[in-house]
Amino acid sequence: MEVTANLLTPRRTTRQIHVGSVAVGGDAPISVQSMTTTKTGDVDGTLEQIYALAAAGADIVRCTCNDMAAAEGLAQIVPRSPVPIIADIHFHVEMALAALEAGVNGLRLNPGNLRKPAEIKLVASEAKDRGVSIRIGVNAGSLHPDIYERFGGATPEALVESARLELAYFEEVGFDDVKISVKASSVATMIASYRLAAETFDHPLHLGVTEAGPPPGGLVKGTAGIATLLAEGIGDTIRYSLTADPVEEARAGRQLLESLGLRERKSLDLIACPSCGRAEVDVIAVAKAAQAALGDRNLPIQVAVMGCVVNGPGEARHADLGIAAGKKRGHLFIRGQIVRVVPEDEMVEALVYEAERLVAEGIEARLAARDLGAEAEAEADRAALLDEKGLDANQSAQKILKIRQRAEGDSAH
Ligand code: SF4
Repeated sequence: MEVTANLLTPRRTTRQIHVGSVAVGGDAPISVQSMTTTKTGDVDGTLEQIYALAAAGADIVRCTCNDMAAAEGLAQIVPRSPVPIIADIHFHVEMALAALEAGVNGLRLNPGNLRKPAEIKLVASEAKDRGVSIRIGVNAGSLHPDIYERFGGATPEALVESARLELAYFEEVGFDDVKISVKASSVATMIASYRLAAETFDHPLHLGVTEAGPPPGGLVKGTAGIATLLAEGIGDTIRYSLTADPVEEARAGRQLLESLGLRERKSLDLIACPSCGRAEVDVIAVAKAAQAALGDRNLPIQVAVMGCVVNGPGEARHADLGIAAGKKRGHLFIRGQIVRVVPEDEMVEALVYEAERLVAEGIEARLAARDLGAEAEAEADRAALLDEKGLDANQSAQKILKIRQRAEGDSAH
């Protein structure tokens, strides 16, 4: 795997807490969270979604605990879940206590709508007795009205103050098994709030842009906020909030951490050229077919789909595996070296076959097993294409000449 994490700002030092078996903060890997969208009282439906989220990369899953059916559901879900479960609590202290009774591994409390100090302290001391951690989940959209008024809005200072006040209640009962989030739907407010939180607390921070919306806009906003902070060394656990199947949240979280080199690659990284005048196939269609065929196989490799054999294998020589199109054939390459030439309609099939063997046997073994005539065959295709299309397949030189001629014509008038 390409290691890039050491090129980022070193991670901020935080205390470490646990959500069940998952450590958060300190030197623990940055974890991925997501939230179920089922009724928590629907035990089988919720467990099915939790399993799908765990398979997509979620380390911790949150479920709402909004009524007694949900609390009772949690009592059955927690022991059967493959990952630790956090109960999401709004407004009702009795739901927090019921969730603790159900055996959840963590609570999320929103200080904006669970406001009575005595109730907050009661939940904190019950959590302390059971060794359960709590996230203080401040949200710009549901900030405590007094704080909103005092700061003149949901400013970064207001969000951090809300977390600080909640923490002070917890400390009164000797509880500090806490992580903190200060989410906003404005990316700029979110970034500024977390920067301030990082200066104020040494507790682990849970990053997220709230109500980011459906993809692709929601993914862009989530990534803009979360990645900016991670690159600054801020953040110990993350969640994308998408208006979509939560599996997409888990997948995005995992992919973001892998792409920053902050988690070991477990999933496929499919890259593809943007296509151009040289492309010998519909690159978008082949890339989509490759993603569909390889996406769910949990192959921890980088695979390239390139539109032409003239530049493809060279441009993607860093990829573990790739295919480039040319003259109705596909050139399959491993780390830039051609290993096989296949008919165009077998490109995706050949990619899947080779990807599985590559993961099972390793790069050296698959290079040793290459078709020895492939390189010469590929070279002949490349030469034929160069003959046909020349070095400037996009006709850029001709276009530049025309631009200059037009400019000269204009200046002469
Ligand atoms: S030159 Fe070939 S590999 Fe590069 S963008 Fe064009 S088609 Fe893709």
